[in-house]
Amino acid sequence: MDKYQSELRDEPTIPAKTWQERQSEEQRKWEDERGNVLNSFVENVGLIPNNCQKCLSLLPHIAVRCRSCKKHLCWKCDFEVHSIEPFHLRCFINTEHQKWLNPNTFFDKDWNFIMKGYFIFM
Ligand SMILES: [Zn+2]
Ligand SMILES: [Zn+2]
Repeated sequence: MDKYQSELRDEPTIPAKTWQERQSEEQRKWEDERGNVLNSFVENVGLIPNNCQKCLSLLPHIAVRCRSCKKHLCWKCDFEVHSIEPFHLRCFINTEHQKWLNPNTFFDKDWNFIMKGYFIFM
């Protein structure tokens, strides 16, 4: 019984240690993640072409990359192509990040996200 009580008294130190461990693990994860963010920044700058690969209009370091078309597109061509090809794997890309796009997410001329409905004819 004495042993049990002393274990109870010791107990609060156990979660404290675990929390610290968890914190340092989180810190490590963040360090890893920060490396990835930096890498993708450097990669993206090199990977975004200067021009839309369909209409050749200038891209302001922002593009929609389509894995299916294997092209970087401006907002306009992206909508033209992908409003009728909803199953293409598209990704928004700028110098800071990449984001997978839903089939109904498109952009206006200022690269603001817009949602467009589309019809599937059966
Ligand atoms: Zn274009
Ligand atoms: Zn595509």
